[in-house]
Amino acid sequence: MEWLTIGAFAKASRLSPKALRLYDELGLLAPARVDPVTGYRLYAPDQLGRARLVAWLRRLGMPLARIQRVCTLEADQADQAAQEIRAFWARVEADTAARRDLATFLIDHLTWKEPTMAVTANPLEIRYAAHSDAGLVRDGNQDTVYADAHLLAVADGCGRTGAPASRAAVDALKGLEAEGIPAGDLLNVLEDAVDRARQAVQGVAGTGSSVEAAGTTLTAMLWTGAQMALVHIGDSRVYLLRDGQLFQITHDHTLVQSMVDEGRLTPEEAACHPQRSLLVRALGQGADGTPDMRLYDARPDDRYLLCSDGLSSVVPADEIRQVLTESAEPDQAVRDLIALANGSGGPDNVSCVVADVMERRR
Ligand code: MG
Repeated sequence: MEWLTIGAFAKASRLSPKALRLYDELGLLAPARVDPVTGYRLYAPDQLGRARLVAWLRRLGMPLARIQRVCTLEADQADQAAQEIRAFWARVEADTAARRDLATFLIDHLTWKEPTMAVTANPLEIRYAAHSDAGLVRDGNQDTVYADAHLLAVADGCGRTGAPASRAAVDALKGLEAEGIPAGDLLNVLEDAVDRARQAVQGVAGTGSSVEAAGTTLTAMLWTGAQMALVHIGDSRVYLLRDGQLFQITHDHTLVQSMVDEGRLTPEEAACHPQRSLLVRALGQGADGTPDMRLYDARPDDRYLLCSDGLSSVVPADEIRQVLTESAEPDQAVRDLIALANGSGGPDNVSCVVADVMERRR
């Protein structure tokens, strides 16, 4: 075996000796041999591949522990090493997406101008309906829905005290005034409201390991008079029907959705996965309750649907779109959607809020 000195190995791997010493200290790439007399680090030529891989992974910004894992897998489970990189990158993109949303929110809010008279002759308002049904299988209803002229909300409680948990979360948002608050303050108002909801849920969810963990999702939209501000935690959803097209504007905070994002599951596999309702974010003891927050410019004739997974897990999106397109009144849409869920077996509590943006009648 022809050993390479650190200088020669550095040259061959196009890494600096300093980087190689660092990788050694971090346990990522130890020299194959350390001369017992001189203490010089000596490398084997077949370590070059590993050295370059570590360098590439560090350039990706991968944490050291994860680089270690990739390197271990790379030797004889290259597929899993690739999967590890894919999962890391999906996480990075999800984090970036969350920051992009925040940036968009701030930009939208700080640059929003009164629409010209030609666009909307009259101020906008929302017309709404909300209803919740226990479904056909569950004994009780742990969902909470709410709608008034300022706030639309759905919360889906789980655990022994799921019902009071979802109610507490929604109650914490009631009375929130988003209309006319100064630019930039809206995010703070929403964040404070989510904090109150989190505390309220913890208050009823109980503590201690003997109690089955209780928690709730919380998906709400606040009417600012010209925009809809979204707060979203969990797997309840918001859909927007605009110009005949249906958009799901929330991202499920579920384990299976993260696995879809990471390329570990297809959307079809996720839809029938036995653990599809396992949440990665929720309000409750020990849960990650970080909300997604977005701002949507309201347009006349927009129709929003907020629903719990009791609807979205059993009724396909194209059927939801059809009902939303065909029902003239929000109340009719809500009743038809709940009937559809129950027509599909009604396996879960089902809650819907439908809200139309329209010009205020003079
Ligand atoms: Mg549910």
